[in-house]
Amino acid sequence: MSDRKLHPETLALHAGWRADPATGAVAPPIYQTTSYQFESAEHAADLFALRKLGNIYTRLGNPTTDILEQRLTALEGGAAALAVASGQAASAFAIQNLARAGDNIVSSTDLYGGTWNLFANTLRDQGIEVRFVDPEDPQAFARATDERTRAYYAETLPNPKLSVFPIAEVAQIGRQLGVPLIVDNTAAPLLARPLEHGAAIVVYSTTKYIGGHGTSIGGVIIDGGNFDWTAHPERSPTLNTPDASYHGAVWAEAAKPLGPIAYILRARTVLLRDLGAALSPFNAFQILQGLETLPLRITRHSENAAAVAKALSAAPGVTRVIHPSVQTGLQRERADRYLSGGYGGLVGFELAGGREAGRKFIDALKLFYHVANIGDARSLAIHPASTTHSQLSAEEQAATGVSDGYVRLSIGLEHIDDILADLTQALAAAK
Ligand code: PLP
Repeated sequence: MSDRKLHPETLALHAGWRADPATGAVAPPIYQTTSYQFESAEHAADLFALRKLGNIYTRLGNPTTDILEQRLTALEGGAAALAVASGQAASAFAIQNLARAGDNIVSSTDLYGGTWNLFANTLRDQGIEVRFVDPEDPQAFARATDERTRAYYAETLPNPKLSVFPIAEVAQIGRQLGVPLIVDNTAAPLLARPLEHGAAIVVYSTTKYIGGHGTSIGGVIIDGGNFDWTAHPERSPTLNTPDASYHGAVWAEAAKPLGPIAYILRARTVLLRDLGAALSPFNAFQILQGLETLPLRITRHSENAAAVAKALSAAPGVTRVIHPSVQTGLQRERADRYLSGGYGGLVGFELAGGREAGRKFIDALKLFYHVANIGDARSLAIHPASTTHSQLSAEEQAATGVSDGYVRLSIGLEHIDDILADLTQALAAAK
């Protein structure tokens, strides 16, 4: 292919794969195999010792999954990627790759409910403290940092608040202190480019817009290759001290001949090996299939969502509409700084009638599906207070922006007139 820098539309179709050398097949094959025949005893030993890179066992890597990893790396402008079994596994690994018992991370309060639970409960039980701060004030990240802080964490376009995170401001604070910023860009693939604003690591639930068709759970961690893990070695002991589980390897050193990929190399060789959240090759294929049309889809999702936000803003019984296209002030400035090509497909709104109106609205929908998902080609709706965020306390719900009358929509690719007609009749029924 050309040496010219290719556009996202082209990378989404071509990066990481041309054709099968054995058969000429153009579509990426599904390598549905657990293991790979070694060429010789020496070859096997070289692979295990990381002297050569290659396939060993599908828990550690798979050729179909590798195409997905290469394609997402190219689209994100990163150095390397690790695909895993779900977005949750991606967030968990992203932290566990840096923080151990006794360490802490500083996270934005504006998070997906599942990530909140992981951080507030499961990581805490593992001895990793998560300090939540309000992203309105980027300096809050600096104030919460101490010598055991191993990472900052945030979502680009967090639902339900949909206030774009100040990526560059927080990344810069972290870089001065030697703390990498991890960004979950699930709601804004292609629209936001966190690595270009200083983030070190990007994670996705590929279940959402990247797969795009509601068929397959998956996740990915992309190493930006733009963070010097050796500049403040005391900050990242997992990468700078000998790893007893790998013959005393120091990952920041071991990765040098391979490129700036120490972080993702450890995530694969240690966490994926030990915790085993491997993506199935079939799901990798499905996600690749979706990825091919992501540039087209994300634009249409955004256009339809902006039209819905406009219509809801004028609808009776709706007290508040949440979408970057109708935001003002600092929120809008951040949206315009960090998003380009659209404001994303998620829309939130509040019904004056509270919880009861929310329930009636959801039950009246005919075209929208009532599901706990986002980023499907179909339009989706949910009432977070009674579902995705129901395991959070009232205070936690308020901190993440969920009120009783709040409804979240994930606007799909149907014709906008049909989307608006369904919303109009459901709003009438919710009165
Ligand atoms: N991150 C965000 C922003 C999400 O919305 C979700 C799921 O809804 C996840 C992570 C978790 O992804 P998965 O469901 O693939 O585990």
